[in-house]
Amino acid sequence: MIRVIAIDGPAASGKSSTAGLVAERLGWAHLDSGALYRALTLAALDNLGERGAGSGEPWPAQRIIGLADELPVRLVRVGQVFRPEVAGVDVEQAIRGDRVTKLVSAVAAIPDIRTWVNTRQRQAVEGLGVGGGGGGVVVDGRDIGTVVFPEAPLKIFLTATPDERARRRLSQRGEAVDGDVVRRESQALAARDAADSKRRIAPLKPASDAVLLDTTALTLAQQVTRVVELARGLFPG
Ligand code: C5P
Repeated sequence: MIRVIAIDGPAASGKSSTAGLVAERLGWAHLDSGALYRALTLAALDNLGERGAGSGEPWPAQRIIGLADELPVRLVRVGQVFRPEVAGVDVEQAIRGDRVTKLVSAVAAIPDIRTWVNTRQRQAVEGLGVGGGGGGVVVDGRDIGTVVFPEAPLKIFLTATPDERARRRLSQRGEAVDGDVVRRESQALAARDAADSKRRIAPLKPASDAVLLDTTALTLAQQVTRVVELARGLFPG
C-alpha cells in the first residue's frame, strides 16, 4: 500500500500548515506541490520578463520548461521537508509574494507544465521509498487525490468560508484583519479558486473518495488531530 496522504482544497484553506504538522506528528515527509508551481512562476518572472495576469498562457510552456531544466527549478529534500529551489537558491519565502500569487494559476493551467510538475512530484515520492512499511509522505495541493496520487489510501479535502480563509491569510502575514481588507483578500482568493476550479485540466475538486473537512470553526490543532486520527486508523505502525 502506498503510504501517501493527499490533502487538497482551495487557496488558504490551511492545506500546507495542516500537511506539515500532520507529517511531523506521524514522522512522515511533507511535499507542498503548490511550491513547485510557484517556483516555476518565480523563475519565469525573473527570467522571461514580466507578464500581466490576463487570460491565456503567460509564456509558452516549452520556454518555462526549458528554463526550469536549465536553472534548474527543483524540490530539494531537507530532513523531512521538500523545499523549492531555483538555481541553487532556496525560494520558500520568495514564492509567497503577490507577484507570484497573481500569476501562478495561469502557469498551473498549462497542460505541459502540469505534466512536468507531476513527474517531479512522483519522482520525489518514489525517492522516499514509501511503498512499504515505516514512513510515508503527506502531499498537499489541488489535484493530489484526483490526479497525482489517486491511489492514496487517505484523501482529505479541506474547506473553509472565503472570509475565514482571508482572515487566516492576513493574520499569517501579520496584517490588520479589518472589514475592507478582509473583503479584498477574500475576493482575491475567490478569483484564484475560480481559475483553479474552472480550468480544463486537473481542476480543483474533491476526489470521489475524499474525506471533506470544513475547518471554518476548527483550530489548526483540531484539524491536524482529526487527520492524524484518520491516518492512524488506516496506516499500520
Ligand atoms: O497551494 P498554493 O496556493 O501555494 O498553490 C498555488 C497555485 O498553484 C494554486 O492557485 C494553483 O493554481 C496551483 N496548484 C495546482 N495544483 C496543485 C497545487 C497548486 O494547480 N496540486
